[in-house]
Amino acid sequence: MSDPFLISGPALISFSGGRTSAYMLFRILQAHGGVLPIDVHVAFANTGREREETLRFVHECSVRWAVQVQWLEFVTDLRSVGPGGRIDLVGYNSAARNGEPLDRLIKRKQSIFSTLRGRWCTQLCKVEVLFDYAATLGFGPGQYTEVIGFRADERDRVYELPRKPRNVDRRFAFPLADAGVRRSDVDSFWSHQAFDLELRRGTGNCDHCPFLSDKARIARARMNPSGLDWWEAHEVERQFAFGRMSIAEIRRAIASSPLLQLDGVEEDAADSECGAWCSGEAA
Ligand code: SF4
Repeated sequence: MSDPFLISGPALISFSGGRTSAYMLFRILQAHGGVLPIDVHVAFANTGREREETLRFVHECSVRWAVQVQWLEFVTDLRSVGPGGRIDLVGYNSAARNGEPLDRLIKRKQSIFSTLRGRWCTQLCKVEVLFDYAATLGFGPGQYTEVIGFRADERDRVYELPRKPRNVDRRFAFPLADAGVRRSDVDSFWSHQAFDLELRRGTGNCDHCPFLSDKARIARARMNPSGLDWWEAHEVERQFAFGRMSIAEIRRAIASSPLLQLDGVEEDAADSECGAWCSGEAA
């Protein structure tokens, strides 16, 4: 059987900034003797609400493993500007850190993504940003392999993603799942490394993602209350809440029960990509 980590180009490896996709990148590098084929690319789509620890981790993987990771940010979804005009190519130092890509998306849509209006943040700020990057490299849908970090214990995602009608033209590879890698294998790998993602499991991706359980959102808000301001400002401006609970309600829930309870954080930890809700996609 061929090594699932040997990737034939053209291909784009989706690096979410989580431990799982970082491990996948490591295994792919290892399979290729430390250097990726010239037509195998790695990209990380930054929403601007990623935790600083995530940005540092992506940067550290890139530096320590000597692999180029292209950082990408959403600019617009206007077809008229072409793929190169729809994304920004940034890096660790220049990456947005206060939600600017999501600000642009909300302004463009004149609406906020939400549990009621839909999770188009993932689609536009991550999935389509990666499409646009591939297009700037000269590859349209189906002309390159999208390498995604779904594990063997996420078989449902591996099964569903290629079978969605909108994905019929896309070509996927799931080397972790093919190699039988489970979460425990990923954890074991990171427990032996000189560096790690400095976030507890289930707290990566957008700092106050509304597509998590109320319990998990409250737990995140307790840990990182300063990050709430950005979300609240949009809710106030649009007179609409991102999630089942508004940020004001989350703040009130914390104030009425000030004990630091962190249970609930890990229940939404589909570590592969973009939290439990984003992770059905190549983000
Ligand atoms: S983490 Fe949440 S808010 Fe951020 S892009 Fe994914 S679904 Fe949207």
